[in-house]
Amino acid sequence: MATKIGVYFDQSSIGGGLDLESLADTVGGKWGDLTPVCKVFPVLADKKARDEIIADIEEEGLDGVLLCGASPRVDWDLYEFEGVLVDRVNLREQGVLSYKNPDGSLPDPEAAPQLLEALVTDYVNMGVVRLQKTTAPDGSPSEGVRRVLVLGGGWTGLTAATNASLAGHEVVLVEKDEVLGGRALGLLKTVPLSHPYTDVHDTGIEKKIAAVQGDANITVYTKAKLAKLSGQPGDFTATIALASGEQEVKVGAVVLATGWQPQDTKVLEPFGYGSLQNVVTAAEFEKLAKNGGITARRVAFILNTALAEPADPYAEVCAEAPAEAPAPAEGEAAAPVVKDHESVRHLPISNAISSVVALKQAGYVCDAFEGGQAFILYDSMVVQGIHERFYKAAQDRLGVMMSKAEIRSITQAADGSLNVLCDKTLIGDDIEINVDMVVLPTGIVPATAKDPIVNFDYRQGPAFPDLELFEGYADSNYICFPYETRRTGVYAAGCVRQPMMLDAAEEDAVGATMKAIQCIESANRGVAVHPRSGDLSYPLFNFVRCTQCKRCTEECPFGALDDDEKGTPKPNPARCRRCGTCMGACPERVISFANYNIDQIGSMIREINVPPDMKKGGPRVVILACENDAYPALDMAALRGKHWSPYVRIIPVRCLGSVNAIWVADAMSKGIDGVMMLGCKYGDDYQCHFVKGSEICKRRKENIAETLNRLGVEPDRVEQYEVAIDEYDKLPGVIEDFMNMILEKGPNPFKGY
Ligand code: SF4
Ligand code: SF4
Repeated sequence: MATKIGVYFDQSSIGGGLDLESLADTVGGKWGDLTPVCKVFPVLADKKARDEIIADIEEEGLDGVLLCGASPRVDWDLYEFEGVLVDRVNLREQGVLSYKNPDGSLPDPEAAPQLLEALVTDYVNMGVVRLQKTTAPDGSPSEGVRRVLVLGGGWTGLTAATNASLAGHEVVLVEKDEVLGGRALGLLKTVPLSHPYTDVHDTGIEKKIAAVQGDANITVYTKAKLAKLSGQPGDFTATIALASGEQEVKVGAVVLATGWQPQDTKVLEPFGYGSLQNVVTAAEFEKLAKNGGITARRVAFILNTALAEPADPYAEVCAEAPAEAPAPAEGEAAAPVVKDHESVRHLPISNAISSVVALKQAGYVCDAFEGGQAFILYDSMVVQGIHERFYKAAQDRLGVMMSKAEIRSITQAADGSLNVLCDKTLIGDDIEINVDMVVLPTGIVPATAKDPIVNFDYRQGPAFPDLELFEGYADSNYICFPYETRRTGVYAAGCVRQPMMLDAAEEDAVGATMKAIQCIESANRGVAVHPRSGDLSYPLFNFVRCTQCKRCTEECPFGALDDDEKGTPKPNPARCRRCGTCMGACPERVISFANYNIDQIGSMIREINVPPDMKKGGPRVVILACENDAYPALDMAALRGKHWSPYVRIIPVRCLGSVNAIWVADAMSKGIDGVMMLGCKYGDDYQCHFVKGSEICKRRKENIAETLNRLGVEPDRVEQYEVAIDEYDKLPGVIEDFMNMILEKGPNPFKGY
């Protein structure tokens, strides 16, 4: 808790006609002994200013430094003073730059209007109280285990194991089969992985296997499974089930590289799979090729997701069996399990994999027989990046014919051959192609779809939480944080994460391994991993007040909290991502962080000067802005010349999930006229950096609305908005609309009480 705070203003970044000397006097006068130093520097980032602050710290015994100027997102690494709490007040972006007069006009740059002075004074006072209510987080460092556990001994797992070992980490690799190599071992050839990217070649999986087997740093368990994973990053206990019994191994982090499994072939039935002879999946065709068993000289590779007539098979399949999915690829790729028919048709990644696999296997037919013929029929041929070269080479290949087409029917001729009736091809309608074999894309799903694989010994259960849309794929924020799962310390790579080819899986393995190592190092230092990398704080529990309601354990998006038999939460700091969702959930205000807590934000709200008469002094609105997207979006809007009402006061929050209803109550009882909550997008296609935070907030808001209703306060005085960082330009309009609504409603009925 800061008890002696030096407050410093940066003239160079604020300006705006503000009389900063007078503001410094006002702040110093209000807070007295708490702020023994209040100074204005021409340039805060200057060495002279820094030296003077260091001198003040020594002479005045300051334990807190409050810097008022540009956004804390700017020059954040410039302002560190050892042993002293440092905080920033954003007077540039969210003060002078974004200010506009209530009538919409811009202020005279030479003379700050009264409302701008009121605005910045509020912000500085809020900054002082925030620092006053902050203590230095001490982290929870512990010298942990640095060993990496790799699950899966296929292409991705072998790459991950080798890379972790190269980085100096001991590795334990667990493979369910008797031999290493996984599905790559069953491939005759791979689509080209290196220059000139025109010809198929051997996968090279044997080299990867040999590298792992020859590495003394890597212990391999085959015919093994992870029976249980307990503990937390840096201190996991992995119970490995072996033929000889169970073995416990201490590991620091896990790379999940268990690949994919074939999907139910039900979706292929309309194409004759299971009813017609010689209709096979791409995976089955690969197996034939690998074993030298291709006997078909004329083969049709069909990439269409549905028959043109009479009905759309997936529409029915999806309606009846929502966990089923389309079938794109062969042995190297996975297709997400989807429920929505439109998604079935337009899965770009799985389509890309189906496409290049068909190109590869068409080549097998031409290689196997002189005069072999391969027909690739598609509704969309999707080839990504460098694989375009392979596509072009295949176009020139004698014996390969490809065309956009609608498939009307596939029927068996009397001689056992197959007739494929196509429509809307590049050469005309109603074309019938007679072939010996039809190859359909293999529908495949992640290995985690039907088996928890990791078997977490966590309060929230053994499996990864997954998304409804992509059932079975370990869920995390795929936009910002690839590899992460919703279980800190476990990083997914390869087809267990999303459909991909061998080259992408190789990159994935390296990325996930780096993440695992970063996690181990962070756990050892007692800091958060992502997205609040380096944060030393973690949730603290005042158990005296805990009613064992279990809301915190149930709502934590990352399964970080376990509980005892009575329901008392048991924190696992290294699993925690410091989002504060538990703090927002707790009705008893049991949970806090050293540098972020209920009292702190409540006190900031109470520092806002609310004029008793809205008609004279204008309304006041608090914006609780998520620090991940909404807060930077506001900064970006200001930097790009956007302006908003001088009546709003912005408070950054870690995530809307951390917003406790008591803050809204604090605001309402203070006479604040409205509360805007700006957070990330939620739903299956979420962008929320803490996965569920903004969604949970939405749910809690409905409860708040009920409470407000009971109190006779219009519930729409508290609104939540979804904001992505690139939507900065729409934010001023959103604020404007909200302010107009508040002006129309009139004052908060609690104003003045
Ligand atoms: S809700 Fe967030 S802050 Fe709380 S324990 Fe879980 S990860 Fe940590
Ligand atoms: S939400 Fe609060 S009261 Fe409920 S179990 Fe968690 S800490 Fe205890």
